[in-house]
Amino acid sequence: MAQQEDVFKKIVSHCKEYGFVFPSSELYDGLGAVYDYGQNGVELKNNIKQYWWQSMVLLHDNIVGIDSAIFMHPTIWKASGHVDAFNDPLIDNRDSKKRYRADVLIEDQIAKYEEKIEKEVAKARKRFGDSFDEAKYRETSERVLENQAKRDALEQRYKDAMNGNDLQAIKQIILDEEIVDPISGTRNWTDVRQFNLMFKTSMGSTAEGASDIYLRPETAQGIFVNYLNVQKTGRMKVPFGIAQIGKAFRNEIVARQFIFRMREFEQMEMQFFVKPGTEIDWFKSWKEMRMKWHQALGFGAENYRFHDHEKLAFYANAATDIEFKMPFGFKEVEGIHSRTNYDLTQHEKFSGKSIKYFDPETKESYTPYVIETSIGVDRMYLSVMCHAYQEEQLENGETRTVLKLPAALAPVKLAVLPLIKKDGLPEKAREIMNDLKFHFNCKYEEKDTIGKRYRRQDAIGTPYCITIDHETLTDNCVTLRDRDTMKQERVPISELRSLIEDKVTITGLLKKLQ
Ligand code: ATP
Repeated sequence: MAQQEDVFKKIVSHCKEYGFVFPSSELYDGLGAVYDYGQNGVELKNNIKQYWWQSMVLLHDNIVGIDSAIFMHPTIWKASGHVDAFNDPLIDNRDSKKRYRADVLIEDQIAKYEEKIEKEVAKARKRFGDSFDEAKYRETSERVLENQAKRDALEQRYKDAMNGNDLQAIKQIILDEEIVDPISGTRNWTDVRQFNLMFKTSMGSTAEGASDIYLRPETAQGIFVNYLNVQKTGRMKVPFGIAQIGKAFRNEIVARQFIFRMREFEQMEMQFFVKPGTEIDWFKSWKEMRMKWHQALGFGAENYRFHDHEKLAFYANAATDIEFKMPFGFKEVEGIHSRTNYDLTQHEKFSGKSIKYFDPETKESYTPYVIETSIGVDRMYLSVMCHAYQEEQLENGETRTVLKLPAALAPVKLAVLPLIKKDGLPEKAREIMNDLKFHFNCKYEEKDTIGKRYRRQDAIGTPYCITIDHETLTDNCVTLRDRDTMKQERVPISELRSLIEDKVTITGLLKKLQ
């Protein structure tokens, strides 16, 4: 685990050193859990967004996009339940003066019991070898059963406490489970309190006339309140979806782990409106489609898992998370929720206006049910970075740091490198670049030795480099180097585009989804 933490630290500093992610306002010592994306970071981020957007809007003829405002009428947040219930239970440790989410402390404790069980099973697997009957072992091993019972009892207590909004019971669980503060090591806890995560500001020029408004904590509500506008003007028929990418803001209590939990972040959300009664089938197919989208990046199926929710929000009838194996464990990257008709019904109630869908075929009006897919751009970005970052031992004893990014997401696709800065090589390189730059992102570099330039490109994940040498001037060929294999081959300039383009554009990725 310590080793994994070291890797994570290296990824964070790599992001800063190579222009991917900077702490916000660094000149003024930073601002908690807010980050800026640098020159390479913004390209990678845009590519992730493009991959998502195109997979939704280009590949589905019944999904369209919108871009709604961050500021919205304050009653929207009353209707959605955020004003009253978008809270996290927080608890302080009096010795370390650190603040924690009480629910996370308990969930971590549940995970500890699960880890103990898995360790027992792994030990037995090693001991018994081929004759190991895992199912039987899980049913009969005393240690496994004991930990399973503790885990289940804890989960039941936790569920009851959360569902009943019983803060005293939540604290009692923390005390009974003897959960200690990882920093102070003590159990000197305060009471549990609810904390609303929305940022508030005011709109209007005079204090008296101003009204309180919120920075949106999710982009979804902008879709709900526009769904009928889009349906009518776009002549959409249920089932149909609306996609949106935009900023969201949450005053997170504990904001750690770099861009995993931020106070200003970006979401990619799609609300799919369906006929009541069909939602569970649609939920299942969106689960599959979204997993396929993740796995098309080629990071390996073993690094993903679903985490089906047992504790459902009262209005939801199914929910799951797609989790990715980060250096600090499997973590949620995306949520898929079957939200029934809760949000639309609430907006009807609070606005006093009918927003029912009229089905032209059956001639009936109804409030559609909604399946939501909601993914954080920044969390997705972190998962990509964590998987791509590698330190490789080379045959000559050197190590190289390389970002094995999927080529379609890489900030720069092709580095154009004249071997030396004279003899007409820079001019030839510029000529090639001027031709290719319309098709994908190219970068010209002439400083330092070729070896150093290759390393720099490896560090930002550039999948291809070409070197222009003296022979190029006569044979019109260049040396093409592959980032992952480091193999070099001589190829005609005229073939460069066709060799590279398919591999580095989003289209190639999208084709895997069909
Ligand atoms: P968590 O339990 O981690 O707080 P959540 O379940 O509240 O997340 P949702 O409300 O379902 O998250 O939001 C959908 C997605 O938005 C998440 O899967 C995640 O990728 C992203 N997200 C949510 N909060 C943050 C945050 N503070 N920083 C970065 N991304 C976030």
